[in-house]
Amino acid sequence: MVAKALARTPCYNARMISVEEALERILARVGTLGEEQVPLTRALGRVLAHAVSSTLDLPPWPNSSMDGYALRSADATGASTKSPARLEIAGRIAAGHVADKPLTAGQAFRIFTGGPLPDGADSVIPQEEVTTEGTTLLVARPVKAGEFVRPRGEDMRAGESVLERGRLIGPAELGLLAALGHAQVRVVRKPRVGILSTGDEIVDLGGLLGPGQIPNSNTYSLTGQVIEAGGEPVPLGVAPDRLEEIEARFRWGLGCDLLISSAGVSVGEHDFVKAALEKLGAEQHLWLVNMRPGKPIAFATIPSTGKGALPVFALPGNPVSAMVTFELFVRPALRRLGGHARLQRPVVQARALAAIPNPGRRRGFLRVALTADESGGYGARLTGDQSSGILRSMVAADGLAVIPGDSTIAAGEMVPVILLREVR
Ligand code: AMP
Ligand code: MG
Repeated sequence: MVAKALARTPCYNARMISVEEALERILARVGTLGEEQVPLTRALGRVLAHAVSSTLDLPPWPNSSMDGYALRSADATGASTKSPARLEIAGRIAAGHVADKPLTAGQAFRIFTGGPLPDGADSVIPQEEVTTEGTTLLVARPVKAGEFVRPRGEDMRAGESVLERGRLIGPAELGLLAALGHAQVRVVRKPRVGILSTGDEIVDLGGLLGPGQIPNSNTYSLTGQVIEAGGEPVPLGVAPDRLEEIEARFRWGLGCDLLISSAGVSVGEHDFVKAALEKLGAEQHLWLVNMRPGKPIAFATIPSTGKGALPVFALPGNPVSAMVTFELFVRPALRRLGGHARLQRPVVQARALAAIPNPGRRRGFLRVALTADESGGYGARLTGDQSSGILRSMVAADGLAVIPGDSTIAAGEMVPVILLREVR
């Protein structure tokens, strides 16, 4: 009966589409969320909602980059060990203090790192390079104008654009925002992501496994992926393979910014996810994607009042398929919602350390472990059996090697790899 219902949906007999086309269809329907204000100290890992321009020159005045002596370079012209320039030590400037008088010809001021250069001086000579005789400084080499001076505005100038919208805020960004006086920062709201697992056989954490049952792992790997992509997971539990139950769980999640389900999305007689979405009025935009693992993946939008349509991903149930389809499709959508300028993982070229076969017509996204080689490149090796139920081969994977259908990357050949994490 359900199979009949599915046969009526426009995508049932649709041709398989490419990963690129699928992603295009998805991103065309996902916008960026609104903003909120957070204290600077809570802004790490958030996404900047607006561009930031500098309001000041930094540093605000030229200052010394060494402990030494400020002087006029002209006063040391032609100086040498045999005939050093002799200057009068006539002042002292520590960081946080300014000279009370300008420096005049024939003078040097003692100065410390960060001390503002006095008017009249144009350079600094480090203390290791000079000698003193009482209040006389002996400079035994010529000095260039600007030597050991950090000029005003060398870091940034007033009016200059310094951070772009959509930038992930890291430690350096925090420092820069603090330097510009931003005690509060406007960031893009974190997407709330409802995560639903489905299946009569699925037992959640804390439950006992009965005959024919398996533990729920998808909820937790997807939770981790959501958090890593900048989202806020909202658990929607485990629904049995019953249309009404699945629909009810989806309803719980209607207040979220994105919904993910796993399993029950194929054409089996117990696959009710698509039918449940249909009952919620969802419009389906894709189903079969030319990839291995994880061919059946539905992307739909539920029209909702108030905000725009709610994107829903119905991922396959196999633990690896769920994770890989998340990587390829959900992660970019989630990052778009979260305002990230960069949606995609980095792709590196790696040398196959052994043959990497991709039998079958579908494009392979195969789990590989990467090693850094001496030349700074990467070597790639399959993590083992590529069956989509083997979570341990995902645990061992640093990346996904992208291989055309019906082909083998021979040992020594290069292959593009989507980097999933830092190579250890
Ligand atoms: P399905 O897409 O419903 O045919 O499920 C495919 C496979 O994934 C089956 O072997 C399921 O038992 C397994 N599976 C489905 N959901 C989960 C889950 N939440 N955790 C672990 N395995 C699952
Ligand atoms: Mg199932």
